[in-house]
Amino acid sequence: MKELTNFPYSHVLVLGLAKSGTAAARLLLQNGKNVRVNDQNADETDAIVDELKSMGAEVITGSHPISVLDGVEIIIKNPGIPYDTPLLQEACKRDIPMITEIELAGNLSETATIGITGSNGKTTTTTLTAEMLKESSEPVKVAGNIGYVATEVAQTLEKNEKMVLELSSFQLMGVKRFKPKIAVLLNIFHAHLDYHKTFENYKNAKCNIFANQTADDFLIYNADDKTVREAVTSARSVKIPFSLRKRVENGAWADDTSIYFKNEKLMDKQDIVLAGDHNLENVLASICAAKLSGASNQAIHNVLTTFAGVRHRLQFVNRINDRLFYNDSKATNILATQKALSSFKQPVILLAGGLDRGNEFDDLKPFLKNVKGIILIGETKDKMSRVAREAAIPFIERAENMEDAVEQAYNLSERHDVVLLSPACASWDQYQTFEERGNMFIQAVHTLL
Ligand code: ADP
Repeated sequence: MKELTNFPYSHVLVLGLAKSGTAAARLLLQNGKNVRVNDQNADETDAIVDELKSMGAEVITGSHPISVLDGVEIIIKNPGIPYDTPLLQEACKRDIPMITEIELAGNLSETATIGITGSNGKTTTTTLTAEMLKESSEPVKVAGNIGYVATEVAQTLEKNEKMVLELSSFQLMGVKRFKPKIAVLLNIFHAHLDYHKTFENYKNAKCNIFANQTADDFLIYNADDKTVREAVTSARSVKIPFSLRKRVENGAWADDTSIYFKNEKLMDKQDIVLAGDHNLENVLASICAAKLSGASNQAIHNVLTTFAGVRHRLQFVNRINDRLFYNDSKATNILATQKALSSFKQPVILLAGGLDRGNEFDDLKPFLKNVKGIILIGETKDKMSRVAREAAIPFIERAENMEDAVEQAYNLSERHDVVLLSPACASWDQYQTFEERGNMFIQAVHTLL
């Protein structure tokens, strides 16, 4: 068991029994804390409820009665629970501090943590950084938003082992003392305003990644992003910039042909397998994090010449009769699809559409110049069709399912074209997750073989 230090609370409410809440509750119970767990969706008969009760927790399921706050000194909330729920509003009134499970993970592994955040590119950068360290034989684990509960991973870290932690704005919103040894801030765009209410709140949540850092820590940041550049001026840590536009003495940068760390050329840009300038930003950020953590140039080179992308993120799927198929199912907003479209110079057949969140998609228009065909899927078909017509895309078609969409795209395509799934929408109108949507695309591509 790992001991929590600097956690001066004995009565804790864990709100939300997802994987992270469960891990937090277990850790707190093992550390002798009085733990109350509250989950609206859990059931008294769930195995996990039994387990936590047998460890000594008080478990309240089915609703969020205000009385769960009585006697509580601190709340560990699931990052998905919005702050405007009546229970959390009442907690605010009572001045009960609220943190997320990340705070506990940080408590266990502060000096070993490389924290990565940004509106887009987190998973790619997290994966690349970890791969570069692995290739250098540096012990490393990934955790956080990428799918492994940070509190659990933090407990398994060996001496000298690093944890590369993907952090969402929801997780960072509840930060009190958490600080990674190395923080990475990739970009800040307008996102998740339904949860954070204002851009300022969202930006402040992102900036929590470095808020508690000191002069012994490092902050890697995107010097090309104005919002980021301005935000990091308040940081106390050592700042390491990365830039695609200019030479930065103290960080990673690129010119037309090569990429560099400080004054040293690392490799030719053309040898990097990942497509797109946005991925080049992720590459530069990863290089900074990996170099600060002891990665070798050879290892960085090996990773960048082989890594074909994280699944569902502009992932190269296959070449069929000289058509290149890319799966970017994770592009659930307009910005991500803009980035994907900017990654290709050759003609593109785009598969797009999904859950209707009220967007009009006009912002896609300037990026549709080399799109010669679009296959529309999901609830947003009509809205996207208008934009496609206004952008004068020669072929505009609709499809009922992914298999038909891929077949229609193939029929429209010619040799050297790109067929790209980059929906600009969430998947929940037709699929459980964006992963399911991407897997259907991959499957449909393989049936063409
Ligand atoms: P996240 O984990 O932050 O959601 P991912 O690495 O999973 O980011 O990528 C999600 C989508 O965002 C991808 O479809 C990709 O096209 C786009 N994207 C990736 N990196 C960047 C970046 N640095 N800037 C802008 N968009 C990006």
